[in-house]
Amino acid sequence: MTTHCLLSIVPIRVLSKSAAHSSIMQPPTTRNVAVIGAGAAGLVAARDLRREGHKVVVFERGDQVGGTWVYTPKVDSDPIGLDPDRTVVHSSLYQSLRTNLPREVMGFRDYPFVEKEGDEERDPRRFPGHREVLMYLKDFAKDFGIYGIVRFETEVVFVGLVEGGKWEVKTKSKRGEDFDEVYDAVVVCNGHYTEPRIAQIPGIDTWKGKQIHCHNYRTPEPYRDQVVILIGSSASAVDISRDIAGVAKEVHIASRSLPDETFEKMPGYDNMWLHSMIKSLNEDGSAIFPDGSVVHADIILQCTGYIYDFPFLETNGTVTVDDNRVGPLYKHVFPPALAPSLSFVGLPWKVVPFPLFELQSKWIAGLLSTRITLPSEEEMMEDVRAFYSLLEASGVPKRYTHNMGDYQFEYDDWLAAQCGSPVSEEWRKQMYLAVSKNRRARPERYRDEWEDDHLVLQAREDFKKYTSVMDK
Ligand code: FAD
Repeated sequence: MTTHCLLSIVPIRVLSKSAAHSSIMQPPTTRNVAVIGAGAAGLVAARDLRREGHKVVVFERGDQVGGTWVYTPKVDSDPIGLDPDRTVVHSSLYQSLRTNLPREVMGFRDYPFVEKEGDEERDPRRFPGHREVLMYLKDFAKDFGIYGIVRFETEVVFVGLVEGGKWEVKTKSKRGEDFDEVYDAVVVCNGHYTEPRIAQIPGIDTWKGKQIHCHNYRTPEPYRDQVVILIGSSASAVDISRDIAGVAKEVHIASRSLPDETFEKMPGYDNMWLHSMIKSLNEDGSAIFPDGSVVHADIILQCTGYIYDFPFLETNGTVTVDDNRVGPLYKHVFPPALAPSLSFVGLPWKVVPFPLFELQSKWIAGLLSTRITLPSEEEMMEDVRAFYSLLEASGVPKRYTHNMGDYQFEYDDWLAAQCGSPVSEEWRKQMYLAVSKNRRARPERYRDEWEDDHLVLQAREDFKKYTSVMDK
């Protein structure tokens, strides 16, 4: 399976010089825009929409900005996340989490994530703890005057099309106020790391042990002296397995990406093993692996990812979530039939999120003001169909539609071309590759040992052009 060059094969429409010229001649249009969510995506969307001259309201159901980066020890009432009536906590962060990207790569392009010197509250490390990211996002919101336009503790419960191509937005606040308003456009930035995706394993319904999804993992203590099977191989799975191995009796990592005969000790650990995916589970608490090995486990911890969920969105079937494909979407942002008044920021994964959110936001803002233009609905649909056909021909499962991996920088640069913004910095691309390689080579130590200091110097040099904004 390869996702390589998925973007370049799909016809790309880059704004022609004459189109760019004629659009510059048109007076920009100001829209009333509702942004759903005040995480990193909603914050940068709000900033760039306002920079473009739009009137923006950000709806945030939590009591602060930051989304995922607002750590809480609280967890959902159902640890595996299957009960539709459970109380839901938004963030999936665990207490020990440090970023898996270096701050130079991770930050917004024109608001670099630099160390704050002289402030003891701050974490100056290159791969800081989660609290530092939250503080950076709060600085961003403050510096760009976003706080004044966020309605906190206000959940969007309905978004639907009304006459004239506008959108009805219904909200409920914790103070008991219900609002029903109409906006010209809606930008959906509600995040996609809250609704657990669960592995289907034969026998799981009658298995007697505890089941938890990593959305509800916070600290290793509850796993002390337990035999744990952890399913998955994502960045979270790597971190959490190490966290737990410090206290658990045994940790068995089960992963679909390992061959069937796998059963091996993890180098450097006495109590951690690697397996291929569990074959079946029995009522007596045992798990059977494809090589015939049997593990009697107390807990199964599923680090099996998340699903997209837009419970508030009513498009009469124009936009659907099918096997975790949100579609049809032109370039992961616009449903062709509803563009540009409905858009999504932040759907792609296996990416550097913040700069990508920034470019998607600039594109949306410029399109809403008519400064830049989209292809026709039919051309966009053709592009989407070609993209889906390519995924299918490359053997990429539908649920990987928004997995960008290899072509994220090509995508970013395509967006940049649409907006008239500079392409991704060369150091950022190289640093991303260097860190990915280092992470594979030193999964335990990549956050503290590296060999790309020359790229850090280049990044810092580049950041100097933004310090005036940040010192404001
Ligand atoms: P979120 O941060 O999830 O924000 C969505 C916001 O929308 C929330 O505040 C939520 O309350 C609000 N909301 C949702 N529904 C509604 C509604 N109906 N009405 C009103 N408000 C609503 N990225 C990195 O760059 N580096 C990392 O090291 C990294 N590590 C990660 C580790 C973990 C465990 C996870 C889960 C993610 C990690 N990420 C990392 C990815 C991270 O999710 C993104 O960086 C980014 O924070 C996502 O921002 P977002 O705005 O799209 O979503």
